Amino acid sequence: LHDRDGWLWHDAEWLAWRDAHTHLLTHSLHYGMGCFEGVRAYAGPRGTHLFRVVEHTRRLLDSAHALDIPLSYSAETLIEAQRQCLECNGLANAYLKPTIYLGAEGLGLRAQGLTTHVMIPAWDLGDYISPQAASIGLRALTSSWARHHVNISMCRAKTNGHYVNSMLALNTAVKAGFDETIMLDPEGYVAEASAANVFLLRDGVLHTPEVTSCLQGITRDSVICLAREVLGIEVQERRITRDELYIADEAFVTGTAAEILPLRELDGRHIGARAGAPAVDKPIAKDSLTARLQHLYRDVTRGEPGPATEAFGEWLTPA
Ligand code: PMP
Repeated sequence: LHDRDGWLWHDAEWLAWRDAHTHLLTHSLHYGMGCFEGVRAYAGPRGTHLFRVVEHTRRLLDSAHALDIPLSYSAETLIEAQRQCLECNGLANAYLKPTIYLGAEGLGLRAQGLTTHVMIPAWDLGDYISPQAASIGLRALTSSWARHHVNISMCRAKTNGHYVNSMLALNTAVKAGFDETIMLDPEGYVAEASAANVFLLRDGVLHTPEVTSCLQGITRDSVICLAREVLGIEVQERRITRDELYIADEAFVTGTAAEILPLRELDGRHIGARAGAPAVDKPIAKDSLTARLQHLYRDVTRGEPGPATEAFGEWLTPA
């Protein structure tokens, strides 16, 4: 990823991608105190747009504030910088990772007298999720690692250090031959996947864990809005147990990178219509709620004409 052409926004200056080095004593590298966002831009019939960049940038600033990291850039400056990242790198479809980190002036935990830095790399994500994966979905394993507790860390902040926990859980599942992991909160209720929120459908009602041990995902919010306002589906945010996922009619995970991916199996149980059936890699039904939401999400992220874009066109910022 590092050895290529391109430009990276760093503290209001443009750095050549290849020369974007940092000092080995950079504080955030040592303790994980920093925060970031994952944002996407999509090319559509009316050009390239950043998707929900206002909400992502707000969450970035909220994360810095919650972590008590001082920052001198406004949301407007950071949004404009993200827009320019696309322009100067010639990107139409892109993933951007605005990141706030602490400098190399000292390694003390008091983190006093440290400079705050902001970088915005952007790159073409390519076919991050293949159409096949989006229709067949994921096999997941419930993790033995608990997700963060509100009295241990802050789930509203998208903190770099949180991802040690995600990686422990994900990599245990991957080594055991699964695609993804479902993490429980310290009390044993479903929290989220390694880097995505979780939903289940049961008897026509959509359920998702309340925001205590999971990130307040922006895709999660998009799905809630699309389900309620475009499809007229009831959505409940509440505590969910793992067996509710086993017996769900449908389940899926959501995230900026993952978009909407079906969860087809958890801990060896086939979810939904596949209950009791042998493990088969069968695409989800076109009329399933998961497929309908995937469709609406695809339309609204690209500004394709239709009910989703009509209702939520303001989610797009021209690039
Ligand atoms: N949970 C975690 C831990 C994540 O890293 C992500 C990805 N940002 C999500 C949920 C989904 O959030 P969003 O939809 O805002 O990308």
